[in-house]
Amino acid sequence: MKLYNTLTKKKEEFVPLEEGKVKMYVCGPTVYNFIHIGNARPMIVFDTARRYLEYKGYEVNFVSNFTDVDDKIIKKSVEEGVPAEEISERYIKECKKDMADMNVKEATTHPQATQEIDGMIDMIQTLMDKGYAYAVDGTVYFRTRKFDEYGKLSHKNLDDLRSGNRSLLVTGEDQKEDPLDFVLWKPKKEGEPYWVSPWSEGRPGWHIECSVMSKKYLGEEIDIHAGGEDLIFPHHENEIAQSECCNGKIFARYWLHNGFLNIDNRKMSKSLGNFFTVREIGEQYDLQVLRFFMLSAHYRSPINFSREIMEASKNALERIVTAVSNLKHLGEAAGIMQLTDEEKSLLEEMKSFRTKFEEAMDDDLNTADAVSAIFELVKFANTNAGEKSSKEFVETVKTEIIRLSDILGLIVEKEEENLDGEIEKLIEERQAARKARDFKRADEIRDQLLAQGIILEDTREGVKWKRA
Ligand code: AMP
Ligand code: ZN
Repeated sequence: MKLYNTLTKKKEEFVPLEEGKVKMYVCGPTVYNFIHIGNARPMIVFDTARRYLEYKGYEVNFVSNFTDVDDKIIKKSVEEGVPAEEISERYIKECKKDMADMNVKEATTHPQATQEIDGMIDMIQTLMDKGYAYAVDGTVYFRTRKFDEYGKLSHKNLDDLRSGNRSLLVTGEDQKEDPLDFVLWKPKKEGEPYWVSPWSEGRPGWHIECSVMSKKYLGEEIDIHAGGEDLIFPHHENEIAQSECCNGKIFARYWLHNGFLNIDNRKMSKSLGNFFTVREIGEQYDLQVLRFFMLSAHYRSPINFSREIMEASKNALERIVTAVSNLKHLGEAAGIMQLTDEEKSLLEEMKSFRTKFEEAMDDDLNTADAVSAIFELVKFANTNAGEKSSKEFVETVKTEIIRLSDILGLIVEKEEENLDGEIEKLIEERQAARKARDFKRADEIRDQLLAQGIILEDTREGVKWKRA
């Protein structure tokens, strides 16, 4: 399997540090609000990467943090007049709900920065002891120039950075030995949350969080580190500097970055008024549609979100769901059980779709082509499965569509199950109404089901239902 590595700017064959195991870290959101659909992109694409690695037989230790101490969280806590902790706890809960609705698997560990402060103080102390960090008036800075390889991920040259990037010259810069140095620890301002450290009462810088949490939960050397492309510089560059200078080892072998999500071809931003939370989209669409939309593009390409594209995604996903549902009914009604000779050779032919799916995913997780392979399989199903098919044939085809979709985290059987559940509930209600001699209600329910194309049959074993 090949992955595009930002570090080498090449697609490279993936070889894990330890056979059969993958250590993977994905930078998570800062929790001061509901997550937006841009944040959903790395969650969905790297969850899909994880699922595919698991499908290939790897045991994946997947760590993704919540940044729960940050200026934006503090600002919100001041606005609402509640402790910062209340804000972060609230939005971690909401984020987990959105993730579940997008069928993003729970991480093996979801560490929170505020629970790991001791580890951060230790790492900063080690960097000080090794001469990679220095304190000025309670602020600790990383001595960027001391790390020869600084810039290796973003492919930036230190001198260009110094002359070209004025945004690096943040306030307090006069205290720094060099404008390129970045903050590891900063003193509190009045009213801000703080922790006691050897340098000041204060809080860690953002970058040190990930170096520490990655080390604690995955070890000093990991296989894959991922996040949105905006994190390449400075966040990931700084993580590499901190971790490699502290541990004396290569931090992560493969660096994966997703492209950005735009809205109606413009950058998503609150001020432009084109900003959507996942929750808002979830009010209009099943979030499976959002997941399908994200996977319809390659993760490194920019992706454009619009109403039309969401509608198209909804219809496309529906085609897979309908095919699965049809196969299910064909299976229930099938007259013959065992495969015919013709079906045996069709199933041989069907293997090509999985091969195509795997080839796409092996090529730097090309989910767009993997989705196409599923559509070819759907077409194959619609063409070759019918009322004369054997039960085994339709079930094998159905299972294959569900299985391939599931590798991408797409649930294509869900609505059917929900529907079945609802029907069964109504049938139970009808039975209860009949028992209570409320025949009017019982008839109402029968008619309501009939309107949905569900026919009830009273048999000796109880009530059975089928689709008209
Ligand atoms: P943040 O909470 O801003 O640190 O973002 C959490 C994750 O979402 C990071 O991996 C970002 O790179 C990613 N991200 C933020 N905005 C977008 C966007 N518009 N498109 C794709 N990824 C994004
Ligand atoms: Zn990070």
